[in-house]
Amino acid sequence: MTTKHRIALIPGDGIGAEVLPSAQQVLDVLGRRHGFGLSYTSYDWSCERYLREGAMMPDDGIDQLRDKDAILLGAVGYPGVPDHVSLWGLLIPIRRSFRQYVNLRPIRVFEGIDSPVRGALPGEVDFVVVRENMEGEYSEVGGRLNRGFPDEIAVQEAVFTRAGVTRVLDYAFTLASRRGGCLTSATKSNGIVHTMPFWDQLVTERAASFPQVTWDQEHIDALAAKFVLEPARFDVVVASNLFGDILSDLAAAVAGSIGVAPAANLNPERDFPSMFEPVHGSAPDIAGQKIANPLGAIWSAAMMLDHLGHPAAAKDITDAIASVLAKTDVRTRDLGGTATTAEFTDKLIELL
Ligand code: ATP
Ligand code: MG
Repeated sequence: MTTKHRIALIPGDGIGAEVLPSAQQVLDVLGRRHGFGLSYTSYDWSCERYLREGAMMPDDGIDQLRDKDAILLGAVGYPGVPDHVSLWGLLIPIRRSFRQYVNLRPIRVFEGIDSPVRGALPGEVDFVVVRENMEGEYSEVGGRLNRGFPDEIAVQEAVFTRAGVTRVLDYAFTLASRRGGCLTSATKSNGIVHTMPFWDQLVTERAASFPQVTWDQEHIDALAAKFVLEPARFDVVVASNLFGDILSDLAAAVAGSIGVAPAANLNPERDFPSMFEPVHGSAPDIAGQKIANPLGAIWSAAMMLDHLGHPAAAKDITDAIASVLAKTDVRTRDLGGTATTAEFTDKLIELL
């Protein structure tokens, strides 16, 4: 009997809905080859739905997703709809309800893509940013006082819990032990004097359980510079919510194109579905033209297969991405080509 995975598809807005079909096509090819099945349920949750019906998703949206094995999301965002609507109306409820406390962003410089960074050579830059995805600096604790007065004040508290930090560190150290054996922790304990020393202390404590992992820590400012100056030196980088957010966008830029970058919001215990999504947004400037780069969505689908227990199928996908970029000049406009989303996808499937 073949395993059948239940996948929730949320194409979302703009190019999100243009790149997800490419990912689905690739998934179906691999399912046939590796002997697993995927059944899809599609949801029209989006900013367009918000404009029509006043909410990104229905009241029982989270419950509808609960029994799925994974969620594949395109992108949400629409001109005129503020970011906080799509964030707080969809993405954050999913991340928090399903305890997706790890945000995973692999970074690779592929042969055939020009990195804006001179020293970022293909094959050499290959690392992962592990971002804490549920607490830290992005908390709702705080407030504003004396609005409009000269003594106006805003306070935003960062919340770091032992349990929350420890579980993401465990994930990152385990990942490092399976990859190149190196971990870098992003900190700022010289300036942020309560939460960051706590973070550092927990890193040291967890490191004791992973003697096979070599680790170091860097202040976030110096680390940002090193991402640009020597990106090849990293293997696994673990960071708090805010630092990880910034580092993962920076790293995607070093890799050369936002259209290629994937992300996973993981619930490592698998108590709840995890969510996979390309890093890019809905790209209203090119939406509807059918020229969006599908590689970010396709690579996100590979991460999904890895999470669902099909690492060989996932590797087939990343190998095909590497091949299509290295061996052909078929590519979408963001990578300097003229191919449509469908042509680029077909070429990749040919190489699979
Ligand atoms: P959102 O509000 O949904 O986050 P955005 O415009 O802020 O959208 P992106 O959608 O990530 O952010 O787009 C940033 C730029 O990168 C745009 O010029 C867009 O056209 C380009 N871009 C993003 N993703 C792709 C892709 N998959 N293929 C080609 N170009 C892309
Ligand atoms: Mg945006």
